[in-house]
Amino acid sequence: MRAWSVAAPGPVERGSLRLVEKPVPVPGADELLVRVRACGVCRTDLHVTEGDLPVRRPGVTPGHEVVGVVAGGGPAVDGFALGDRVGVAWLRRTDGSCPYCARGAENLCPASRYTGWDTDGGYAEYTTVPAPFAYPLPAGVDDVTLAPLLCAGIIGYRALRRAALPPGGRLGLYGFGGSAHLCAQVALAEGATVHVLTRGAAARRLALDLGAASARDAYEAPPEPLDSAILFAPVGDLVPVALRALDRGGVLAVAGIHLSDVPPLRYESELFYEKELRSVTSNTRTDGREFLALAARHGVRATTHPYPLSRAGQALADLKAGRFDGAAVLVNDLS
Ligand SMILES: [Zn+2]
Ligand SMILES: [Zn+2]
Repeated sequence: MRAWSVAAPGPVERGSLRLVEKPVPVPGADELLVRVRACGVCRTDLHVTEGDLPVRRPGVTPGHEVVGVVAGGGPAVDGFALGDRVGVAWLRRTDGSCPYCARGAENLCPASRYTGWDTDGGYAEYTTVPAPFAYPLPAGVDDVTLAPLLCAGIIGYRALRRAALPPGGRLGLYGFGGSAHLCAQVALAEGATVHVLTRGAAARRLALDLGAASARDAYEAPPEPLDSAILFAPVGDLVPVALRALDRGGVLAVAGIHLSDVPPLRYESELFYEKELRSVTSNTRTDGREFLALAARHGVRATTHPYPLSRAGQALADLKAGRFDGAAVLVNDLS
């Protein structure tokens, strides 16, 4: 089969991602073989390709927002049939036995493995997934629309739950990219008042179109104190800004894997009155299932920008250069 491979990590515009010939993967005992139909492009794929994340599998095929159909499986698989449409996401496997897994926090499992980093992902004709980590997908929504929900959507949802927004509460979103615009749709559907604080004029327009109550620059104060806030922009300077925007007892959740350094915090104006600062790490399968169900019920939609899978390198280069709005999705034109 044809698959994209990170030959030697480096700048994507210099060809670090190559289209190569690989054998069709052989699923393990509890794994599904999945024929890829569409795969979303996540910024983490760029980090894998350029070496910002350390190499875990030389020549890895990126991609962890896969929508495909079951094309085979190992002897221990049950609950799936050939032709079923499934989603493959970032969390590929956990040990299921450590103290974190035992208490339902499998996102913290030290033995966790990730799609498109530890194992080959969806920038290919075929990929594999352990059946217990595959998501059945709702009917009636097309592949391209579903793909970005599998990482950007699930992570945004976990961030929303970590931010502990009370029913009907006031939520601030700092940064408004792929994850935030999906998170905003869930919050609005659940009755929140959403204030978006971001620097891009186009993103502020999209926020207002989706139903945000206000959209301002990230360093401006929102029009009212916030019960909860989520920092999607990877900018540590915004941590004290967002903490100051919280009401008493408010919670700030930091959604990103990477964050520039956080400046010193002033205890009295930024943390006192029981304000809380939390991080968000990956997600559990429960987050994924809850989010996909909510997304189907509320019609949560990503703004998508399709590319043929044969142009994955170009899609990553365009993502890096900020040449499109919304989420790029690769559509399999290789098979
Ligand atoms: Zn991702
Ligand atoms: Zn574990």
